[in-house]
Amino acid sequence: MISLQSYVGGRWVTGSGDPKTLHDPATEAVLGDVRPGGLDFGAALAHARTRGGPALRALGFRQRGELLKALAGKLHEHRDELIEIAARNGGNTRGDAKFDLDGASGTLAFYAQLATSMPAGNCLPDGEGLQLGRTPRFWGQHVWLPRPGVAVHVNAFNFPAWGMGEKMACALLAGVPVIEKAGTPSALLAYRIAQLVIESGILPEGAFQFVAGSVSGLLDLLGPMDAVAFTGSSATGALIRGNRNLVARNVRVNLEADSINSAVLGPDPEADSDTYGQFLANVVVDMTQKAGQKCTAVRRILVPSGQLDEVADALRERLQAIVPGNPLQADVRMGPVASAEQLRDVRAGIDRLAAVAQVVTGGSRPLPGPGYFVPPTLLRARDPDAAVLHELEVFGPCATMIGYDGSAAAAIDLCNRGGGSLVASAYSDDRSFVEQLVLGIAPWHGRVWLGSEKTQGQALGPGAVLPGTIHGGPGRAGGGEELGGLRGLSLYLQRTAVQGDRAVVGRTFGGEGQPG
Ligand code: NAP
Repeated sequence: MISLQSYVGGRWVTGSGDPKTLHDPATEAVLGDVRPGGLDFGAALAHARTRGGPALRALGFRQRGELLKALAGKLHEHRDELIEIAARNGGNTRGDAKFDLDGASGTLAFYAQLATSMPAGNCLPDGEGLQLGRTPRFWGQHVWLPRPGVAVHVNAFNFPAWGMGEKMACALLAGVPVIEKAGTPSALLAYRIAQLVIESGILPEGAFQFVAGSVSGLLDLLGPMDAVAFTGSSATGALIRGNRNLVARNVRVNLEADSINSAVLGPDPEADSDTYGQFLANVVVDMTQKAGQKCTAVRRILVPSGQLDEVADALRERLQAIVPGNPLQADVRMGPVASAEQLRDVRAGIDRLAAVAQVVTGGSRPLPGPGYFVPPTLLRARDPDAAVLHELEVFGPCATMIGYDGSAAAAIDLCNRGGGSLVASAYSDDRSFVEQLVLGIAPWHGRVWLGSEKTQGQALGPGAVLPGTIHGGPGRAGGGEELGGLRGLSLYLQRTAVQGDRAVVGRTFGGEGQPG
């Protein structure tokens, strides 16, 4: 039994207030607790502003990249220990835990590598310079510079390592100190990572602070150079976006929220084709990896109506082979959902879907024994127009098949009813179908993942977020954008147009030689 502490103002402190209990979701054993209140956020911000920020900015991009490399190495060094914590407090199988942890260290390493091709200092030219006056003598150059503020990162419970790692990578490389808030149900893993970061001494003091508990009151203290990056539900995201201080002071806010992602089986793949096989395999991984608790997991499976029976049979067979169990057992392929609250929400969500859909396999009935287990649950919509299919995110191992007429127009209409999603995947070798679909759904999605004969075995599936391409989505998905290489730094950098004599502007800020 451990009481989690926060690292703020240069020391570890225990919070106050009523403790929230942390459980092993496979056994319901109590592991520890978190006390939500009692932190001095004014002091935490001052610490970041006066120590962490200046120390980071004294380094420049390339040296900060070295820090990220060292952090990635530190996580990798402790990988086995961290995997075990992810199993105990997050219900993660070994594969799930690796997905989270390697995602964190991989993203840190990606940004470390990116830094090697960035300027040594803090000034990053944005594109080419341009003539602004009657002659080239009056010149303009856009530059990015670190904002002298603090990044507050509010993370969801489902990716305690990756969520923190990917946000930290971008902020720290940009030169902005971070305050990381962990999602409470799985906070043990984030806490251990925070301990490793602090004990390692890799980062300058004040560059990294960690909150176990609540950030209540912190957002009210932020100013115009600060930034908030939030990951979690749309409901919490809306509260944060509406925070009066953040609105009044134009504090930058990036929201990554929930999403009703789709997978579309095109009209063409035959049941024995690689494209069809990829579709089935990716849907099963998406539904069961991390017990379906992935913001990018598929929730709606669009299938040409004539193929619904055969797809239902194929998915049922595969999903029934995955029996949820304690992830510490090597042969278990899917663990429990993360908390009793999640279990309650997922069961209630399945019941709501089952009111408009037939349960093909799984369902909401309780499973025997302790633990927050839900079987992989596949439903088949009776009415594709039922609003709940397109509005309710059941954040567990659950998705619904929806029939469509095989046309791109019908698939576009259904996909876009999600109100803005993180990702849609499509499986087809019909170029005309794919082109129409992409053009129709891209504005409503942050990512479109295309599976075809040629991509078989080439890449991770649509549920994987890669640091080189953006993560986020419009509308309901939060309207935010993270990662995407250098794009991921933009939340933390100020873009300024410097205008003046080309000899000064071009050479000093645009990296030009002696202009002609
Ligand atoms: P959540 O309940 O919205 O919580 C997210 C985070 O916000 C947690 O750290 C939570 O702290 C904190 N929080 C809660 N109320 C707050 C408030 N009033 N002010 C500031 N912070 C507050 O979401 P969750 O249950 O952790 O995560 C599941 C959801 O996240 C799903 O809907 C999933 O789709 C979404 N998600 C989205 C992405 C993405 O990248 N788009 C990634 C992962 C998950 P406590 O835990 O202490 O309550």
